[in-house]
Amino acid sequence: MSTTTGERTARPHRPPHLTAEHEETRSRVRGVLGDVVLPQADAWERQGRVSAEGWRALGAHGLLDFAHDGEEFLHSAVLLEELGRTGYAGIRASVGVHAFMALSYVRMFGTAELRATLLPAAARGERIAALAISEPDAGSDLRHLSTRAEPLGDGGAGGFRVDGRKCHVANGSGAGFFVTLVKTRRTSGDRGLSGASLLVIDADAPGVTRTPQPMTGWRSADVCRVDFDDVRVPANALVGRRDMALLHLMKALDFERLVAGLLAVGGVGYCLELLDGFVRRHRVKDVPLGSHQAVRHRVAELTGELELVRTYAYHAAQLHAQGRLDTRTASVLKLKATELAVSAAQACVQYHGARGYLEDAAAARLYRDAMAGTIAAGASELMRDMIYDTH
Ligand SMILES: Cc1cc2nc3c(=O)[nH]c(=O)nc-3n(C[C@H](O)[C@H](O)[C@H](O)COP(=O)(O)OP(=O)(O)OC[C@H]3O[C@@H](n4cnc5c(N)ncnc54)[C@H](O)[C@@H]3O)c2cc1C
Repeated sequence: MSTTTGERTARPHRPPHLTAEHEETRSRVRGVLGDVVLPQADAWERQGRVSAEGWRALGAHGLLDFAHDGEEFLHSAVLLEELGRTGYAGIRASVGVHAFMALSYVRMFGTAELRATLLPAAARGERIAALAISEPDAGSDLRHLSTRAEPLGDGGAGGFRVDGRKCHVANGSGAGFFVTLVKTRRTSGDRGLSGASLLVIDADAPGVTRTPQPMTGWRSADVCRVDFDDVRVPANALVGRRDMALLHLMKALDFERLVAGLLAVGGVGYCLELLDGFVRRHRVKDVPLGSHQAVRHRVAELTGELELVRTYAYHAAQLHAQGRLDTRTASVLKLKATELAVSAAQACVQYHGARGYLEDAAAARLYRDAMAGTIAAGASELMRDMIYDTH
């Protein structure tokens, strides 16, 4: 027989992978984000980007220089979750793209010279990184990549001449440089991504044009179209092996999905806290909304799903810390965390009623932000294909 005592013994669940030391990181990071990000967040949403002062403040507090690998990565996982918990997916995406996704290519595959040139200023928030992979006809399917980097001089010794168009690039107008996927070798027929390379392209180089592409959500993510018209790029801007970007992408895209998943987990945490507080407070028919069984069971379902996904997220982070993250785990996390964000945001708006649907309501922001999570960094359908294919 099931019974209830009516007592609540709720406590914040700590995933088994985390120690008291990680929780200290959480407190510190939460404090910095509370001081540096939250007071400015609405202004950044309106301006469409994180301000230059904001970037420098994040850098000054060391938040742009967390580890990408090894045991220290669990502290980074906490940072990513806390960025999500700000409740501003545009800001979390901006920081995630800069400090993790785009820079991961430079850190993993860049030469010592490239790392020394780019990483210190990036860590200080003085030079912002963006990742320019998607094109109008190459999103989920990168085989139709058309941005060309023509090698100049003897086998590319004279650098490259780049022509093409990238789209939906976060941090686009504020970026100091783009980690850009280009074709360096012409291939005949359907040769997948063979003959592709990664180049660091200076955002101020002659021939680079950025045009804002404001999105429905992720408003502070500074999403832009970027055109390259006869842009000269030096030979030492090559990241990793020429014509072999596919090898690098396979590793970096798993990391990107892990980062996206951890950010989304934090976002769901914020959303459910907002929802839970509201349904306990708001009264309909003279009783709190949460006293209606349908409402409290919906909140309980979502809370349970978050606990499962969050534990899985830290499991994935630990696998990565041990150098054992696989495509399947990264894809499951990215799929489940971002889709849970959509369900949670929908419930959040629904139970807030019209007040949650106001233009400037937090619930409305969560709702419009959540959809981007299931498209950016690989659409949900691609994640499902990947999970099915790695069975
Ligand atoms: C807010 C935001 C920020 C972004 N930031 C960046 C960035 O910083 N840098 C960058 O390079 N790109 C960025 N992107 C682009 C993103 O990576 C692409 O949107 C994504 O890869 C999907 O490509 P696409 O939009 O061209 O959709 P398409 O590939 O044209 O797909 C359209 C839709 O088809 C469905 N679909 C796709 N594949 C399958 C399949 N196998 N089976 C069934 N259905 C399928 C999906 O629902 C998908 O949404 C961003 C996107 C968004 C929304």
